[in-house]
Amino acid sequence: QVRVRFAPSPTGPLHIGGVRTALFNYLFAKKHNGTFILRIEDTDQNRYVEGAEQYIIDALNWCNIPYDEGPGKNEKFAPYRQSERKHLYKDYAEQLVASGNAYYAFDTADSLEHHRKDHDSKGKTFIYNWHNRKLLLNSISLSAEETQKKLDDGEDFVIRFKSPQDQTLQLTDMVRGEISIDTNILDDKVLFKSDGMPTYHLANIVDDHLMDITHVIRGEEWLPSLALHYQLYEAFGWDRPQFAHLPLLLKPTGKGKLSKRDGDKLGFPVFPLEWQDPATSDVSRGYREDGYFNDALVNFLAFLGWNPGTEQELFSMDELVQAFELERVHKSGARFDPDKIRWFNHQYMQMQNDDELAEAFKNCTPQLALIDVNFVALVVGMIKERATFISDLWELSSFFFEAPQAYDEKSFNKIMTDDTRNLMTELADIINHSSDFTVDNIQADVKSWIAEKGVGFGKVMQPLRLALVGAMQGPDVFEIIFMIGKAETINRLNKLVE
Ligand code: GLU
Repeated sequence: QVRVRFAPSPTGPLHIGGVRTALFNYLFAKKHNGTFILRIEDTDQNRYVEGAEQYIIDALNWCNIPYDEGPGKNEKFAPYRQSERKHLYKDYAEQLVASGNAYYAFDTADSLEHHRKDHDSKGKTFIYNWHNRKLLLNSISLSAEETQKKLDDGEDFVIRFKSPQDQTLQLTDMVRGEISIDTNILDDKVLFKSDGMPTYHLANIVDDHLMDITHVIRGEEWLPSLALHYQLYEAFGWDRPQFAHLPLLLKPTGKGKLSKRDGDKLGFPVFPLEWQDPATSDVSRGYREDGYFNDALVNFLAFLGWNPGTEQELFSMDELVQAFELERVHKSGARFDPDKIRWFNHQYMQMQNDDELAEAFKNCTPQLALIDVNFVALVVGMIKERATFISDLWELSSFFFEAPQAYDEKSFNKIMTDDTRNLMTELADIINHSSDFTVDNIQADVKSWIAEKGVGFGKVMQPLRLALVGAMQGPDVFEIIFMIGKAETINRLNKLVE
C-alpha cells in the first residue's frame, strides 16, 4: 500500500515549488491507488506564521490536489500537526542516546562561535563530529556523572546524532540512482532541544515511520539530509521508505536556482485577501487572482521536472495520474518558464465550456450586467481563440456589445475617402433591405452588390469592418453583422460616414 506525504512548514505562503512537490506526491499516490497525506511540520515556533496552514490547504484544494488524510480529514494517524505530537519525540531521542547513536551536548552558542572562528583563522572548517567531539562539552567528553549533573541542574542541552567516522554510506534515490557519501564530511546534527522540541530531522523520520510512509518525494534541497535520514532509520532499526528528490526549479532565464524572491515574483497558487504574510506583504496576488485556470496551472507544474516521453502536452488530472512515473522525473533542473504557463492557459481557454466562460466573463464585466448570458456565450465562442485570460475577453469583444468609441486612426485616415463614404451609405441601404437576416443571406446580398458595383472586395470590407469594430481585426464581418443586428449595423455605418 503506497502512502506518501506532503510535509510543508507553515512559515509563509506556499510557493509554486511546494505545489509541484504536492502534485507529484498526489500523482504517485493515485497512480498506485495509495494514500496522499498532509502533515504540517510546525516545530519551528519562531518561523510559524498564523494562517499559513489554512493557506496551504486552500491552495491545494484550488489546484484539485486534495489530501486523503491530514488535519481534519480521515485522522487515522492523528494528530497531523507536529506541534501536537510534541510529546512523542523525546522518547525517541532518548532511545538513540541509550543505544549509543546520539549524545547530549551542552555547548553554548558563544562557545560554538568561538570554535568556528578559531578554525577559520587556521584555514580549517569546524565540523561538529568525531574530529572535535572530544574537545567540546558533551556526554562523550564528560563523565556519566558530569553529564547527569548538568541534566539534573536543568542546563540547556541538545541531543546530537553521533555520525560515524570513516564510513561510506550507499544511498539510493529513485531519481538520482546510487549515491555514496563519506561520513567524515557529515556533522552531528541536532535532533532534539531542551525546550522539548525536536528538530526537523527527528520529527520527520519519526513521523514518516509512525505514519507508515512508503515513499518520500520531496525537493532536491533535502538531498543533503538523506545521509542522516538513512542513518536514523538504521539507528532505530526501522525499515526505511524509498526516496525521490525532485529537481530544482531554475529561474526563467535557466541560469541559477529559483530563489524565494523569484518565487515571490512568479507568484503563489492562490492569494487569500484576508491573509497577508508580514514578511512579504508586497505580495498580493496568486495565479488564481491573475486569471489562470487551476487545471492549466497543474498541467504546467506537472512538466516542471517530468515528461511523459511522448509529444502530448495537454493532460487532465486523470491522464496525469495514468501517465505519471517517478522513473521519468529528470535529474537536471527544471526551468520555470512564464511564457509556457501562459501557453497552457491559452490552451485551457479553448477547452472551456462557452456557457461557463460567459458566466465568468459577465461576473467580472459591469458592461455585461444586462446582457443575456446565451448571447455572451455565442460571442465568447467566436473570440476565445485569441484570448489567454478571461480578462482579455472584453477587449476582444466589446464591439459585440457597444459601438466602437473610436476608430483606429491609421486605418481611418487610409481608408476614408469620399468614395468610401458613398459606398458605405449605399451599403447601409443594401443591408437595410436584406430580407431574411441570416449570416449566409447577408453575405450573399453584400457580395452580389459588390459584384454589381464592380469595386474591389477590400474597398467595401475594410471600411465595413472599421465601422463595426473600430479596428481592422476581429471575427468574420458577416457574423458580427448577424450578431449585432440590422439596426445597429446601419447605425454604425452612418456613424462612420458622419
Ligand atoms: N518540512 C519540510 C519542508 O518544509 C519537509 C521536507 C520533507 O519532505 O522531508 O519542506
